[in-house]
Amino acid sequence: MLLENKVAIITGATRGIGLAIARRFAKEGCNIAFCARSRNEKMIQVEQELIDAGVQAKGYAVDVADYNQAQTFVAEVMQDFGHIDILVNNAGITDDSALKRMTEEQFDHVVGVNLKSVFCMTKAVQPLMWKQGKGSIVNIGSVVGIAGNYNQANYAASKAGIIGFSKSCAKEFAARNIRVNIVCPGFIETEMTAEVPKELMDTWCSRIPMKRPGTTDEVAQACLFLASDMCPYITSVVLPICGGMEDA
Ligand code: NDP
Repeated sequence: MLLENKVAIITGATRGIGLAIARRFAKEGCNIAFCARSRNEKMIQVEQELIDAGVQAKGYAVDVADYNQAQTFVAEVMQDFGHIDILVNNAGITDDSALKRMTEEQFDHVVGVNLKSVFCMTKAVQPLMWKQGKGSIVNIGSVVGIAGNYNQANYAASKAGIIGFSKSCAKEFAARNIRVNIVCPGFIETEMTAEVPKELMDTWCSRIPMKRPGTTDEVAQACLFLASDMCPYITSVVLPICGGMEDA
């Protein structure tokens, strides 16, 4: 198993891509500390599912965009799990509109959650990974952070920011054997996209060379590779998972 006895923190793992990463990592023997903003039914269900898969797992109610909550979260995970080998910064939101109509609040909210959470969580794990002399951080960006997108200037800025932030950390941490990489999903099928009308889905898919959306498992596989010891010399890499979309 690729992650046996390792401990991973995965942010935003109660659904979508984060949940797929948690499931995939657990299959490889990884113990999972995950979070979302509230400890609801869904979190308890995911926690039990992972425990049933044979690993240690615990869900925490944390707003990862809050610096102090991120610090407390990591301290609690250290107490509960003993060490942290992997951090996957997955939690993210959208609040789309054309720039003409985008409010300051919409911009601050999306950048505040998507980009600041990566700063908060990286700051929290960095001292202990530094002390360990190893660690792997995988940040979830987006092809939109590379190519831009209509109605998503705030989201694209936050995801482009993640790339710059991660590459800077990769340089600073490399000598301590801490790798930092960025996975950039394209159009991925989730619960949200299940509600998109078929005609619109077909239009979107026609623009993808592979003519289909990606799956959450396909994103999780890429995260697994980067998080594992299979690629000890890979850091600062931006990996698009997008079926060959041209400008990614
Ligand atoms: P979802 O909305 O399905 O899931 C987001 C998760 O993050 C939920 O568990 C949510 O739980 C949690 N979350 C949101 N805000 C916070 C916060 N402040 N603190 C802690 N947890 C939080 O998202 P997706 O699975 O679609 O996306 C996951 C990541 O992948 C995001 O970073 C997204 O930008 C990126 N991405 C997604 C693509 C797609 O096509 N789906 C394409 C490209 C990138 P709760 O709401 O209960 O807090």
